[in-house]
Amino acid sequence: MENYFVEAKSRKELRMLATMVRKKLGFENELRIPIVELLDVFSVVLNNFNYEIVSDHELPADRHAETEIMSGTIRIKESIYERACNGEGRDRMTVAHEIAHYLMLRVFGFKLYRNVGKREIKSFESPEWQAKCFAGEFMISHALTAAMEPEEIADKCGVSFEAALYQHDHR
Ligand SMILES: [Zn+2]
Repeated sequence: MENYFVEAKSRKELRMLATMVRKKLGFENELRIPIVELLDVFSVVLNNFNYEIVSDHELPADRHAETEIMSGTIRIKESIYERACNGEGRDRMTVAHEIAHYLMLRVFGFKLYRNVGKREIKSFESPEWQAKCFAGEFMISHALTAAMEPEEIADKCGVSFEAALYQHDHR
């Protein structure tokens, strides 16, 4: 989505939204978000949300999943979905990342613009940065992990060490 930019959002704003969504779902005090199960919950409670598990060759090699904003469809590679179901942190985060794209554009209604002028996009208005930021804040609660080191965050939240370290360094 490099050809698009979104209305600017700071990490602080995205953190507040992530906390709000956690509250609404009753995961306020939950270290480990059941992200795969959330796909099914959202399919039921949200209009215009659905997801598909596709065979690996249906998406480009460098893409683990994708979100089609207009139809509200998340497509996830079979291998990624299976690993996410088995609790693999990196793949759980992939699912969270796609859910983040959906929530920001379809639920929160952030405005998306086509980058007609091909101007340089700042990180805080990049859809990819925003999805990465929101997913990290959603999967790794700022409040619940405030006193934890990256190893403990990775273990308790079910995320990769890299993701845990990133949140640890950006809190
Ligand atoms: Zn993305």
